[in-house]
Amino acid sequence: TRQSVRNFLRRNAFVLFTVAAVALGVILGFALRPREMSLREIKYFSFPGELLMRMLQMLVLPLIVSSLVTGISSLDSKASGKMGFRAVIYYMVTTLIAVFIGIVMVIIIRPGKGNRDSPVPSSGNIEPVQAADAFLDLIRNMFPPNLVEACFKQYKTVYSKRIYKKNVTITLNLTEAINGTESTFPANVSGVLQTVQETLEETVPVSGSSGGVNALGLVVFSMCFGLVIGKMKQQGQALREFFDCLNEAIMRLVAIIIWYAPVGILFLIAGKIVEMKDLVQVGGQLGMYTVTVIVGLLIHGLFVLPLLYFVVTRKNPFTFIGGLLQALITALGTSSSSATLPITFRCLEENNGVDKRVTRFVLPVGATINMDGTALYEAVAAIFIAQVNDMDLNFGQILTISITATAASIGAAGIPQAGLVTMVIVLTSVGLPTEDITLIIAVDWFLDRLRTTTNVLGDSLGAGIVEHLSRQELQNQDAEIGNSVIEE
Ligand code: ASP
Repeated sequence: TRQSVRNFLRRNAFVLFTVAAVALGVILGFALRPREMSLREIKYFSFPGELLMRMLQMLVLPLIVSSLVTGISSLDSKASGKMGFRAVIYYMVTTLIAVFIGIVMVIIIRPGKGNRDSPVPSSGNIEPVQAADAFLDLIRNMFPPNLVEACFKQYKTVYSKRIYKKNVTITLNLTEAINGTESTFPANVSGVLQTVQETLEETVPVSGSSGGVNALGLVVFSMCFGLVIGKMKQQGQALREFFDCLNEAIMRLVAIIIWYAPVGILFLIAGKIVEMKDLVQVGGQLGMYTVTVIVGLLIHGLFVLPLLYFVVTRKNPFTFIGGLLQALITALGTSSSSATLPITFRCLEENNGVDKRVTRFVLPVGATINMDGTALYEAVAAIFIAQVNDMDLNFGQILTISITATAASIGAAGIPQAGLVTMVIVLTSVGLPTEDITLIIAVDWFLDRLRTTTNVLGDSLGAGIVEHLSRQELQNQDAEIGNSVIEE
């Protein structure tokens, strides 16, 4: 038995370290709070956490590209088409369920009822981006004009005021002036056509680039690239091997960084606890809003998604989730599903034994576009703001919110608090005041961590479900490879 205890410890060392890191981080954070560190000190204190973020982010780019290219090129196009179709259906269905749960919760709990807690200072007259422009940005980002630029920039529409002159023709009616007493106009003129230049002012959408990796663009490119070199048979061999090898090398780097993860997580969590404003003050409407989001996320993450997994695969979802623990904790610590991606890969492949052909294909796409937690949060936040403003939403508006919340979650990058930015689309679509986002900023860092964890959970269970549904294609492929090995 001592042997088996030792085996257990060895097998679960990472998980145990990570859980211990969270506990230690919380304890350390609360122990240091009374010292009231300055922001500068907090920054220094959280440095080991910042390092973890940087290391993980460093791997994300080559990881997304190499895994998608190898993942797709190693499947025949029919199999990858089917797998992709299943993944997209899963993303759509689960995101819509998440939005639905959010809407039901916020309507039942009504966190925004009563008078507005605090007046909101207006944030100036920055014109909010319209939903239509945000949709166009989403599609625009799928086709980056420059791949190198896509590694650090994405497109984002902003409004700019354009002043321009335009020739307009007007009819000058002089009759009235003539009838007046002191006319200086020639008496025989009754009406003249005249062209004048008028100065007009218009706000126009301008698509500029803003910081942040354009993951969506890279995902689309890598998928197409993988499809093409998959079809190139013998000719594509060198490229397939190159990306396969690159992917393998990156995963080995992940295996090294993972040893550092508990330290980083400890300091990320402790640093945040030291930094945060007084907890107890979050009462009233904001407190109820926080509770609403948390309840919604819990229902979705611990009930709906596991149930779906069970119904499809007939396997125990909680065993599967147990294998994901480290990824979930990393998501909680980093509040970035894209930074968590390397760990998610490892957990799924090493602990849960999900087929690499599935994870490589499905995970990078999921981390980029499938965000159940974010979608749920966006719907709750928008309706909460409507409640605070005493605005009754009709069915059509609620439907609009569900659609735009889904789009906003697809458009949100997997980085901290991206969902808060894409909120604007949801609010403007139903005419809610965008400056009211300031109402919910205070608790967003916390809700961000929880929704990121839900996002990662959704992506991972999705990989498990897609693998199960695609087992036939995977077996066929195995058989083919087996045959060709025998032939050789
Ligand atoms: N931080 C979230 C994520 O990375 C996105 C969001 O802000 O909702 O998944």
